[in-house]
Amino acid sequence: MVILYTAKNGEYTSLQGQSNIKDNVYVNLTNRCPAACTFCLRNTKEMAESNSLWLKREPTREEIISEFDKYDLSKCNEIIFCGFGEPMERVYDIVEIASYIKRKYKDMHIRINTNGLANLIHEKDITPLLKGSIDTVSISLNASNAEEYYKITRNKFGIKSYDEMLKFAVECKKYVPNVVMTVVDCIGEEEIESCRRVCNEIGLPLRVRPFEE
Ligand code: SF4
Repeated sequence: MVILYTAKNGEYTSLQGQSNIKDNVYVNLTNRCPAACTFCLRNTKEMAESNSLWLKREPTREEIISEFDKYDLSKCNEIIFCGFGEPMERVYDIVEIASYIKRKYKDMHIRINTNGLANLIHEKDITPLLKGSIDTVSISLNASNAEEYYKITRNKFGIKSYDEMLKFAVECKKYVPNVVMTVVDCIGEEEIESCRRVCNEIGLPLRVRPFEE
């Protein structure tokens, strides 16, 4: 089971057998996700199951911590909670694990890459939990309006999900030093500009990232 890995140019490598780790380290927590994005590899079952990031069972919080204990990460720059699903499905575990990492490596930067639907998933505002252990939350904006967002993400919460995702982003600002919205560059210049306007309205930066097939 691959729990910790490094990633370069869309390729990932398990930490097993690696020493002197200087790359960013990713934590593979869950396959669960309330969305079914049109571009997500999880949506083809064959693709998902042939991918070694697909978890046959979720690692427990203790298993993840003991995996961290196997490696010296003092040269590593950043730990990123992501995975082949939505990491914030396990926000309570993330916070515990992140706090543990901070106690061990006090300057370690910790990021969560998320779809921003955590408050809908947990049916409450979970953003206060992030205070003190999470340095960056990076949220996929995906689109400049609710209709397009829902069409792309096909999430189980319906059309209200877009506004709730934006509210979540704004709430995160109170507890997390860096909150960033992201879109992929293949959505077109016009849509990117519209996304930029949405981000300006809520006072958050937009990062345009390259789309990887
Ligand atoms: S939110 Fe992320 S994990 Fe979930 S379906 Fe979309 S791309 Fe896949």
